[in-house]
Parts: sequence; C-alpha cells; structure tokens
Amino acid sequence: MNITIFQFFHWYFPADGDLWNHASEQAQRLADLGITHIWLPPAYKSAGGTGEPGYAVYDLYDLGEFDQKNTVRTKYGTKDEYLQCIKAIHDRKMGVLADIVLNHKLGGDEKEDVPVQQVNKENRLEKISGQTSLKAYTLFTFPGRNGKYSDYIWDWHSFSGVSKGEEIYIILNEHTNGEWENVMERQYGNFDYLMGCDIEYRNPAVREELKRWGKWYIETTGVDGFRLDAVKHIAIDFFPEWLPFLKASFQRDLLCIGEYWKADINALLGYIDATGGMIQLFDVPLHFNFYKASKAGKGFDLRTIFDDTLVKARPELAITFVDNHDTQPLQSLESWVEPWFKPHAYAMILLREQGIPSVFYPALYGAGYSDTKNGQQFDIHIPPTGELETLIRIRSAQAYGEQYDYLDDPGIIGWTRTGRDDKPGSGCAVLLTNAGGGEKWMNLGERNAGKILVNALGDASHEITLNEKGDGLFNVAPGKVSVWVFKNENKN
Ligand code: CA
Repeated sequence: MNITIFQFFHWYFPADGDLWNHASEQAQRLADLGITHIWLPPAYKSAGGTGEPGYAVYDLYDLGEFDQKNTVRTKYGTKDEYLQCIKAIHDRKMGVLADIVLNHKLGGDEKEDVPVQQVNKENRLEKISGQTSLKAYTLFTFPGRNGKYSDYIWDWHSFSGVSKGEEIYIILNEHTNGEWENVMERQYGNFDYLMGCDIEYRNPAVREELKRWGKWYIETTGVDGFRLDAVKHIAIDFFPEWLPFLKASFQRDLLCIGEYWKADINALLGYIDATGGMIQLFDVPLHFNFYKASKAGKGFDLRTIFDDTLVKARPELAITFVDNHDTQPLQSLESWVEPWFKPHAYAMILLREQGIPSVFYPALYGAGYSDTKNGQQFDIHIPPTGELETLIRIRSAQAYGEQYDYLDDPGIIGWTRTGRDDKPGSGCAVLLTNAGGGEKWMNLGERNAGKILVNALGDASHEITLNEKGDGLFNVAPGKVSVWVFKNENKN
C-alpha cells in the first residue's frame, strides 16, 4: 500500500472548536480515498488561546482540558474530542501524525528578572550590549493545570533567548554561558532563536521533561508519528536522543517528519547527515520548483522540475508536498503554487515511485478566509483541485511497479508505472505539459503488451492499445495532465 499523508488543517481554519469533530466525520471518506496517515495540527494550549493555530505553544500538557489562556478548549476543540478524533482515524486503519513545536514557548505566567545580553538581529553571534537585566515572561507555572501530569516549572534557566519587540537577547545562565545552541542553520550567524522563549537544550532537566512529555503524549493519544516544527532552530543532537528514547519505550516505529524550511538541498542533506537519517524531511526545494514552474508557465523547462530536490537526492527520506499552511495566500512565507499547475504538481508527488506525498486540506475541501497583508485587506477563495480525488485513488490502487521516465522535453514530460502482480489492474501512464500539449511514445513493459488504457482525467472514451512491446502513443491537451489507467480496472 502506498503511503499518503493528508494535512488536515490550514492556517485560517475557523477557530470554532470543530476541527477534531470535522476530522472524525471525514475519516471514512479519507480512508476510502486511500489516505493512510492524517497530520493533525498542534493539539495543545496556545498562548493565543483559541485564536492561533497552535504554534505559539503555552502548555504542552493541556490538550484542551484546563481553563488556561481564557479557554478550556483549543482552537480545534477539547481533549475528549481530540482523543475521539484519533480513535475515529485509527478505526479506519489510518495513522495519526501529531504536529509538535519544541523550539519555543510563549505566554509565560509571570515575569522574571533575567540576566541577558542583546545581540545583533542580523548577526546573533555579535553582542551589542553588556550584561543587563530584562523583565521577561519566562516563568511558566501553569496555574490552571496545577501540576497535573508534570510539576515541571519552566523558568529562565530553561530558555536560551527572549525578545522584546524587535530586539533579541541571549539569556546568561549556567547552560548558555552566553552562547547560542549548536543548530544547523547559519543564517543570521546562528538561527537558534526564532521567537518567544527559546528552549535551552543544554539544560538536562529540559531534556528529561520533554522525554517525560513525549511518553505521556504517546500514552495519552496513541499517535503514530510526529511532524517536528522548526527543526533548523533546535539543537542538532536533541531529536537523535529523543526519538530513539520514545521508539525504545514503546517498542514501535514512529514516522517522523522534520520541517527544515529552506530551498537549499545542501542544507537539508546536512541536517539528514547530522541526525543520522532518522528524520524524514519535507521536500522544500521541490515545493519551490513547483512554485517557480507555476509562475513561469511555458517558460519553465519541465526537464529540470526535480533538479536539486530531496526526492531526487534522498527519495527514501523525502516528504513531498505542493503547498502547506505556511505557503498559503497571505501567510508570511507565501509561495502559493498557481491553480493551473496544481494537478501537474499533485500528479508528480502522488503517482511517482519516489517520496511520500502530503496532501493539503484546501486542495480537497477548498478554503475561504480574509486577512491583511502589508496593511491591505484581502478576501481569499481557494477552490478544491478537481482532479485530486482521482489522483489519490490512482495512487492507492494503481501507481505501483517499475517507473520509466520520459523527462525529455522542456514543455512535455511523462512517466509510466508498469504495475505489480500483487496489485491487480495496477500500472499507469502520466503525461503533462505547460505548453501546447502533444504526444509521446511511452512504454509500460512487455508484461502489459496488448492491454488497453483510458484517460482517467480526460475523455475516457479515448482508448490506447499498447503494442507487443508495451509501447503506446499517449497525448495531452495544452496546459493539462493526462493520467492513463488500464480499462475495466479503473473503478473510479
Ligand atoms: Ca531554538
């Protein structure tokens, strides 16, 4: 069975507390389509209460259970609804990936006098003040939870940095000794600090607390893996300690995907090496290739679409995606793949042998929302990608076997899958163009000689019969994608 992840949220999902229930209701539909794993948004209490998607972490142990930040539930619902949602997904034989944010915390309960030194925002290795004291919200006592599950109190010894407005300060405690942590990312000299109170991993008590939390989280929720937020800002050696600890504790594997947000393939490969290949990574370079191709139209050379991508360099570790909650319109990292190219991009992540694809919620369900950007108000309407359901179904049922590539023309590329004996009726052919369309001879292997294919995305009455070598002449309309499957064996 091909693995297919579904990202069940977007940044502007309504804050009505209904996401867990909605996901429970949709679990059957997603399982029927062929989705195998559902990536749920951060489930614990945000400093922003119900008004923030969950990346402004306040209390990792509050999954919508305690009256904190003026609310019991989170943006997405209550703890009971979350656990019900996970059960509904498990009942359909799908896995759950939890989105966890371990780089920072926000919304501290009390201020402390914190010894600090200000650093240059553009070069965090450069101190631009002497030792001084800053009143900062670094004390997290979680009064609403009152010690349940863990009595760990976070204070300024648990953090390496704080900010005040635009100013960034390194905390001077016995763990930092005035130095940032060893993170992979060298942008700004050292990119340990991202936001809020930056978690200090050289403090052994912090590591022990996060191990305790990881065990509690898996015991409580039964999740099957993690999407690890902002890994490029977290001490390199933390996850290689934390993940084996959890896998050993539960005697099971966990699917772990790191978000290393950078289009540079060498940065991703460096992180993979440094973490021993135990963390899969989102293929950010591929996303940007899709983005550029969608903007350039027929000016983009499709032969280069996989150049300098993770799915090409390390396919076994690549999580491929078209868009996500950070790239969607009006977000600060906006790089939205143009709608005309989405079927192309989804075909390239769903129907090829390499990579594990992650499908974004609005592509299946659409989305509508308003926000301001650069002081201007925008209303966004995202329609579903009409071809997506068919592509997911074909991935689940037919995209198996050897892959023959025809990435040989700037304006029209294709590939075939020859099918596999244990997947009756499997095999497919894909042809896509960003230009005037056309034809291409492609081969599906002698095992398929004489078989008939029909176009699952276009005029299904048009049939192609493979010759004795398994060759067929496939065609695609201008600017479109054709996906051909064996006749009578496509139950869509
Ligand atoms: Ca950090």
